[in-house]
Amino acid sequence: MAQIIKVLKGTKDILPQNIELWHFVEKNAKDIFSRYGFKEIRTPIIETTDLFSRGVGDTTDIVNKEMYTFEKSERSITLRPENTAGVVRSYIENGMSRLSAPVKLWYEGPMFRYERPQAGRQRQFHQVGVEMFGIKQPSADAEVILMAEDFLKSIGLDDLSVEINSLGCPKCRTEFKEKLKSVIKPHLNDLCEDCQTRFDKNPLRLLDCKVPECQEIYAKKEIQEVIMSDFLCDECREHYSELKSYLDKMNVKYSENKLLVRGLDYYTRTVFEIKSNNLGSQNAVCGGGRYDNLVEQLGGEPTPAIGFAMGMERLISLLEEKEPQKLDGYIVSNNTQEAFLLAQELRSQGLNIELDLTNKKFTKQLEKASKVANYALILGEDEIVNNQVSIKNLKTGQQFTLNRHECFKNIRHENFQNNK
Ligand code: ATP
Ligand code: MG
Repeated sequence: MAQIIKVLKGTKDILPQNIELWHFVEKNAKDIFSRYGFKEIRTPIIETTDLFSRGVGDTTDIVNKEMYTFEKSERSITLRPENTAGVVRSYIENGMSRLSAPVKLWYEGPMFRYERPQAGRQRQFHQVGVEMFGIKQPSADAEVILMAEDFLKSIGLDDLSVEINSLGCPKCRTEFKEKLKSVIKPHLNDLCEDCQTRFDKNPLRLLDCKVPECQEIYAKKEIQEVIMSDFLCDECREHYSELKSYLDKMNVKYSENKLLVRGLDYYTRTVFEIKSNNLGSQNAVCGGGRYDNLVEQLGGEPTPAIGFAMGMERLISLLEEKEPQKLDGYIVSNNTQEAFLLAQELRSQGLNIELDLTNKKFTKQLEKASKVANYALILGEDEIVNNQVSIKNLKTGQQFTLNRHECFKNIRHENFQNNK
């Protein structure tokens, strides 16, 4: 026998028995985001590598270590590791700045990062996310956070905590970075290798290092004083406090976390994360923030923007499995042609119907029907002659015979009764 080929490490099949939860989450995303006026956008999975090195930032883990990049016809191409950069590219390329603000977009689809696979961390995973362009006021930040919470509640998740922080603007943040570097510098040789590189390239990221030795250093009094200091300029402080007052008014429970810096270079001012209290160490289900300079950085008109992305796999792992949906009817008959006629008629009216394609014994067909369907639609010789169907409710065992044209109405009606 030929050797079997296995799925790549860090990737997974989503099998038919699990698909209902995916459909459920996708439908809720579409419904809730639509309620807030967001429209779906689908951008390509491959983009030019430059988009991510300029858009996500070449000091980030994503760009430095995690991208799937290859050459084709002397072009460097990358499988998208996230979708904000792609949506921003599309926004600029399609002249969406001419539309009246805000432009509200959402997406869902696979992302690719070469990371160490573990529970809640894959190399191909899916994100559902949103981007809102054109509004600099904190009302946009509030609306996006409110919508994230609304969506998570709609799928039944409420044991969640929202964390927020403000990273300021390039002006106040630069000063903060310098202060931070000056107190950390004396300990530079004791930091982990990653932190030593971050020190020059992306000092904010020092704060979310997970290495205990680094954590110990950052817990020192003089360093904590800088971390906890209020470094925001007047405009940024005002923006942040207005956001908090919106959240208070809307009754969103949140905590402020000064260590929340997020991995990506493009964030300005508001950043936020939503964590589940029921996941292990990979507990972030949603990450987002404001990125007021990215559109300009990628060649567009200066345009403020804010968005978030959620990990579909992590969301789904928090939900209870759903019973697979059964067919409305399974036709039991030894006359395959008649069975087909009935099947097509009912399918055309929107019912989910299967029939036996191999003319098995009646009892075998009934057995199959009771496994896969809510109703057995029996077409025996008598029924065919009289233009009737016997309908057996496979839950209750009740059976009744109807004229063929009444069959659809009755299944619909009974299904409605059952689902009430
Ligand atoms: P983490 O700190 O968990 O690596 P991140 O900051 O890299 O997250 P983002 O880039 O903000 O994550 O992505 C948003 C969400 O996408 C995360 O909160 C998480 O739910 C999900 N996510 C990110 N990377 C992965 C992955 N490799 N596998 C599964 N889900 C992921
Ligand atoms: Mg990550």
